[in-house]
Amino acid sequence: MFKVGCHISIAGGYEAMGRDALYAGANTFQYFTRNPRGSKSKTPSPDDIEALRRLMDENGFFPALAHAPYTYNPCAKDPHIRQYTAEAMADELRLLEYLPGSLYNFHPGCHVGQGVEAGIVMIADMLNAIMTPAQSTTVLLETMAGKGTEIGGRFEELRAILDLLTPEIAPKVGVCLDTCHIHDGGYDIAGDTDAVLAEFDRVVGLDRLYAIHLNDSKNPLGAHKDRHEKIGEGSLTLDGIRRIINHPALRDKPFYLETPCNLDGYKKEIALLKSEREDA
Ligand code: FE
Ligand code: FE
Ligand code: ZN
Repeated sequence: MFKVGCHISIAGGYEAMGRDALYAGANTFQYFTRNPRGSKSKTPSPDDIEALRRLMDENGFFPALAHAPYTYNPCAKDPHIRQYTAEAMADELRLLEYLPGSLYNFHPGCHVGQGVEAGIVMIADMLNAIMTPAQSTTVLLETMAGKGTEIGGRFEELRAILDLLTPEIAPKVGVCLDTCHIHDGGYDIAGDTDAVLAEFDRVVGLDRLYAIHLNDSKNPLGAHKDRHEKIGEGSLTLDGIRRIINHPALRDKPFYLETPCNLDGYKKEIALLKSEREDA
């Protein structure tokens, strides 16, 4: 079963996201947990979330992927920012229990000069503090392009975070692989798919991979830039994208588009991906 979705705006509420995903031909979707445009996050209505849950059930959706806001930084230098991040993420994990079995993705953070090692410890400490063994959500560390002081540009950095988790919560933490980010980070996921996935398996483990952000890139391999491009229009090429979505190690994982598209653009890209997918 091809699990494919795209990024959907939460501006119209929860059930509306499900309708938008259906319109785009998706069977899963990603959304920002807070409307990036609204400064105040109004409390979501449990009825609206319940309506989304029903829509997802009735249409055979796979669990949705919630994406934490970019403003969070678990390894900020300022302890107030770290505190704010931890409290906001703990809040979101509580809310996500209304959609059981959700995925929750976040950018590991920027160490802003404190060093990779110190950053890794802060990220793991935060997860150990805010997660509970009872939660149904799986929390995902996103692979990054390695620009500036970003942590997560190397698979080894994600492994180091996973290794510092308590045994109680470690089973609820995995990785989301962003194809644009790792390409910009120097991993030739499009050209040498087998080798990159073998390395991911060796360092992190494919069993810890829960989601793929499927994006083309505006920049060449190893550029450390992070500018997403439409499918088939960037350096990953349509041939590369085809190899990725059909790879035996990835074919059962959910793919989420975060390309520069509106909903109609996503609808076209999902139709394109289905035509390139061997079993869809
Ligand atoms: Fe992201
Ligand atoms: Fe991403
Ligand atoms: Zn990105």
